[in-house]
Amino acid sequence: MLSARALTKIYPGPVTALNGVDLDVSPGMFGLLGPNGAGKSTFMKILAGLLEPTSGSVTLDGVDVLKDPKSLWPRLGYLPQEFGFYPHLTGEKMLEHLLALKGVDAPQGRKKLVGALLDRVNLTFAAKRPVKGYSGGMRQRLGIAQAIAGNPRLIIVDEPTAGLDPEERLRFYQLLAELAADRIVLLSTHIVEDVAVLCPRFAVIREGRLLALTTPGEARAAITGHIYEGTVDAADLPQLRSERTVTQALLVEGRNRARIYEPKGNPPSGFAQVAVTLEDAYLVLMRLGELPGLAREANGIFASAGGTR
Ligand code: ADP
Repeated sequence: MLSARALTKIYPGPVTALNGVDLDVSPGMFGLLGPNGAGKSTFMKILAGLLEPTSGSVTLDGVDVLKDPKSLWPRLGYLPQEFGFYPHLTGEKMLEHLLALKGVDAPQGRKKLVGALLDRVNLTFAAKRPVKGYSGGMRQRLGIAQAIAGNPRLIIVDEPTAGLDPEERLRFYQLLAELAADRIVLLSTHIVEDVAVLCPRFAVIREGRLLALTTPGEARAAITGHIYEGTVDAADLPQLRSERTVTQALLVEGRNRARIYEPKGNPPSGFAQVAVTLEDAYLVLMRLGELPGLAREANGIFASAGGTR
C-alpha cells in the first residue's frame, strides 16, 4: 500500500502545487486525473523520491519514502513525462545504459536482462536500431522496460499516452494493464479515456487538492439520468452556459451539440436524456468542484477541498 498524508508542496513564487493531499493506493492500476497544472507531476515526483515536499509524509508498505529515497529506488519504476534518450544509441545499448544508471542487479548478466526486458515490452525486433528511429509508442515502451527492471512494487507513469497514435496507445494500455496484475501502477493523466479504459480506481486532482476518490462506475452512477443532449445555435451557447452546467459543446457534423448536467430533471426543450460517460462525470466535477450524489466518503473526506460553485 502506498499512502500519502497531508502532502503539501509550495514552490518559490509561491505556487502551492499540492495542498494537503491524503491518498491510499492498493496494488493494481490507479489513475490520478486532473487538468494541466493540477499538481500531478509534482505528486509523482515526490512519490518517486525526486522532489522534497514542503510538508507531509509518504509511505510504501509502511516504510517512509521521504526519509530515505534511495532505499525506495530498487522497489520503484518511474516513467517521467520527458524521457531523455541518446538518439544515436540502439535500443539495446540505451537500455543497458539506463539499467547501469539505475543500479539494477543482473545476476544472469546485464545483456540477458536487457534481452528479457526488450522482449517483455515487444521491442526485440528493434533492439539493434537507433532510438532516434523509434516511434513515440516504441520510446514509451523502452521507458517502461527500464521502469520494470528490478521488478518494482510501485511503477509511476506520468502522462504516458500524450503523443501516441491510437494503435500505440492501445498497445501501451495493454502493457500497463499486464504490469498492474501484481503491483501498484500509478498513472497520471489529463485524458479521461485513459482512466475509463484502465483504472478500476482513480482520484481527481485540481489546484493541488483531491476532489474525489472513486471508481469509474461510481462516478458515472452519481450523475446517471441527469445528462441531457441537444442541438443549439452557436449564438445561444453563451446563454445556455450561463443558465446551465454545460459539460460539453461540440461541433458534430456542422451543428453544435451540447451536453448539460441537469439535476432537477428540467432540461431545455429539445434536450434528451443520454447515457452518461466518465467524461461527463469528470466535467461536472470540474465545473462544480464535487460530484453531487457521490458517496460522502468519496467526496467528503476531502471536505477541505471545497470547490468553486
Ligand atoms: P500537472 O502535472 O498536473 O500539469 P504540475 O505538478 O506540473 O501539474 O504543476 C503544478 C503547479 O506547480 C503549476 O501551477 C505549475 O506551474 C507549478 N510548478 C511546477 N513546477 C514548478 C517549479 N519547479 N517552480 C515553480 N512552479 C512550479
